[in-house]
Amino acid sequence: MDWDHLLNEATRHLQEYLRINTTNPPGNEIEGANFFEKIFSTESIPFQVFEPSPGRGSILATLKGNGKKKPILFLNHIDVVPVEKERWAVDPFAGIIEEGYLYGRGALDDKSMGIIEMMALLILKRENVHLKRDILFFAGADEETGGKCGIQWALENISSLGESEYALNEGGYVILNEDGVADRYEISTGQKVVFQLQLKAKGTSGHASMPHSDNPNVKLIHGLEEVTKWETPYNILPMVKEFFTRMAPKQPPGDRKFFEDIEKGLSNPPFSAKLMSHPIYNAMVRDTISLTILQGGSKVNVIPSESSAALDCRLIPGSSKENFLKEIKKRLGDEIEVEGKMEGKSIPPSSLNTDFFQAIQKFASRNDPGCPVVPLLLPGATDSRFLREKGITTYDFCPFRLPEKEVLRVHGHDERISLKNLEFGMRMLVEVIKEAAT
Ligand SMILES: [Zn+2]
Repeated sequence: MDWDHLLNEATRHLQEYLRINTTNPPGNEIEGANFFEKIFSTESIPFQVFEPSPGRGSILATLKGNGKKKPILFLNHIDVVPVEKERWAVDPFAGIIEEGYLYGRGALDDKSMGIIEMMALLILKRENVHLKRDILFFAGADEETGGKCGIQWALENISSLGESEYALNEGGYVILNEDGVADRYEISTGQKVVFQLQLKAKGTSGHASMPHSDNPNVKLIHGLEEVTKWETPYNILPMVKEFFTRMAPKQPPGDRKFFEDIEKGLSNPPFSAKLMSHPIYNAMVRDTISLTILQGGSKVNVIPSESSAALDCRLIPGSSKENFLKEIKKRLGDEIEVEGKMEGKSIPPSSLNTDFFQAIQKFASRNDPGCPVVPLLLPGATDSRFLREKGITTYDFCPFRLPEKEVLRVHGHDERISLKNLEFGMRMLVEVIKEAAT
């Protein structure tokens, strides 16, 4: 395969795609869908464009297999988040290349993913690879503001998507260490469950010169102190246990045995204190509570009659919301009202014991021998929850090799991707599909 030639082609396509401004809002993703439409039609790959509301376009392309196995879905999104143009060193919508990097809003999130997924379909078609499964490509609208007219709409209205066995979506990366060597392949296979609560304390207003015992601010902070110092119990999912086991060889010798058996590790107070000081590890092993909004009073010499707060909690899938809420209420005391604000569904993580996951592992061990492939329980929420809810085994993984500081450019300034990564990404997708679909 002529990778130099393919990289040139992918680079040209990504430059053109980055020049289409799909900042959401308003999105205007139809232009991105039309961009893919032109390419798929030149390559004679069947596709359909959808526009559930004006300008909010998505496109589905299908590379046919013989139907012996169920489809694999390549998912990506067309829209991007806004830019602060004056903070960028280059024009974020010009597709500029400098020193081996292509710059632009969407260069990482998520237009590069769209391009390598499209290129994988083109390569498999041109090579006439005989597939046992259909490979579906879906570039959707509206990921950045909730997915209502993107993937959510699509899963309700395009029946072929729901027939997929597997989906690959944005998420983890191949994380490089400071020497540029692959440290781990991070693949998110599940996510925490959003559970947001609104709290209200009522009291008696009055002049601040005469303090009394019915001050809502005081009631609220006392309750919140009890809630925020609650050390929620550990709840280790099998995939999280697997994550720590796979990370074990990378740890300093003294920590290795604790990573290998994380339940035992967490029962060792010095080790668990050290581990829990990492916010991501902490979030993977327990329900979490963040106090995010605190409101009460508007004038320094007036005791208000009401004050309020909001808690953003993220639960381990399968954790009991009822028990969690009961404990929160107990800690807040009787005088504080608690109301649900937003409640996500508890969706079990995707299995690691699949031929698709194994294909990724095989690629990793060929390409980066000894580098662990680790399943992440994502603290935040992505579109993958809608896919998993439909029964599609979903992996969040962008096949790009990035040092951790480069990942911070997602939604940041001077977002960019190295051209080397475009080649790596295409190669990985093609090899993985050949492994899992032929
Ligand atoms: Zn994204």
